Amino acid sequence: MKVDALIIGQGLAGTLLSYNLLKQGFSVMVLDQPQLTASSRVAAGIYNPITGRQMVKTWWADRLFPLIPQAYGELEQLCGSLFLHQMPVYRPFFSIAEQNDWSGRWSDAAYAPYIEQVHVAPAYTPHIKNPYGGLLLKQTGWLDIPLLLQAWKQYLQARNSFRSEIFQEDTLEVGGEGVNYQNVEARWVIYCNGTAQLQSRFWQWLPLRPVKGDVLLLQANAALPVIPNRGVFMVPVGEGLFRAGSTYYHQDLHLTPDPKGRQEIEEKLADLISIPWQVLEQQVGIRPATKDRRPVLGPHPEHKSVYVFNGLGTKGVSLAPYCAEMLTQHLKNGSDLATEICIERFYSLY
Ligand SMILES: Cc1cc2nc3c(=O)[nH]c(=O)nc-3n(C[C@H](O)[C@H](O)[C@H](O)COP(=O)(O)OP(=O)(O)OC[C@H]3O[C@@H](n4cnc5c(N)ncnc54)[C@H](O)[C@@H]3O)c2cc1C
Repeated sequence: MKVDALIIGQGLAGTLLSYNLLKQGFSVMVLDQPQLTASSRVAAGIYNPITGRQMVKTWWADRLFPLIPQAYGELEQLCGSLFLHQMPVYRPFFSIAEQNDWSGRWSDAAYAPYIEQVHVAPAYTPHIKNPYGGLLLKQTGWLDIPLLLQAWKQYLQARNSFRSEIFQEDTLEVGGEGVNYQNVEARWVIYCNGTAQLQSRFWQWLPLRPVKGDVLLLQANAALPVIPNRGVFMVPVGEGLFRAGSTYYHQDLHLTPDPKGRQEIEEKLADLISIPWQVLEQQVGIRPATKDRRPVLGPHPEHKSVYVFNGLGTKGVSLAPYCAEMLTQHLKNGSDLATEICIERFYSLY
């Protein structure tokens, strides 16, 4: 079988990349073994352009956020399924000073596209604790990633472009003009396998810095029209269920749920919401982040048919559409990858 791209892994990276490549007329074969660690299957899927305690605009927000409804909307149409939920994020203020600050900043051209309203009095009571009001954000929401992955897998399967199997790297042969993997001949092999990349013979030198995180599935008797978010988020996923999280740990990178992760989330939730909840499940995942917290895309320094698309870190939903499009353009017409995301910044480590 001959294809343009052999893609290893079908998390968010492999999904968005295979979709972009197919859109540009390339052929793909995607290999994925869903039983393996996947950050994408645990993620709550929030996208939010203004984050952190200081509430600053996230890196490249103006480039990334317009592509979110566009790319996932096209995927929804192709798959005949709905997984993008556009929903405001509500961030309660810590103080009157913060409220005043945002009342002024509302008209700032850099922030205005992302602010729906500045609440100067409590809103969404009695569910959300917000004595000083809060910031209601737009161009925000959540992506049902497990549903997207399942729907896209079926789309690929129907086109004979997906295999549910573990990629055995020792049977990959890399030549000057392409690669051979078992019965597949491809122009490129593209690693979209998240933290599993650390075990690859080609990529051990890349500075991935995995970050473990927990998410809780909760049941609560409330209908929230927004995603409350301050140090912790609570995403309404329907039928009285919510996903709350998350934590960030650089050590103990195992996938066994740890009581300290649950405790950290519940303590922060108690500061944010007033409704009682019940924890139904705790899930753990490991985010494929890099040392400089930027994605990493592009060709191996020595083997020009071997590519990487990784490092989506904590913000895969917003980064994946733009980065996948950039990599596709690079493969199609050799266009330069932006230096901030291009693998060349790490070539000196090889
Ligand atoms: C707790 C938690 C909460 C998060 N919340 C958010 C959020 O709210 N918003 C957001 O934008 N991001 C969030 N993220 C981050 C997000 O999950 C990642 O940025 C993104 O999903 C990474 O996607 P990926 O495809 O690069 O990697 P992965 O999802 O890890 O996918 C890698 C794929 O490769 C496959 N694979 C690996 N090795 C092999 C092999 N040998 N053979 C075959 N297949 C293989 C795996 O099975 C997997 O499917 C969160 C992550 C965690 C852990």
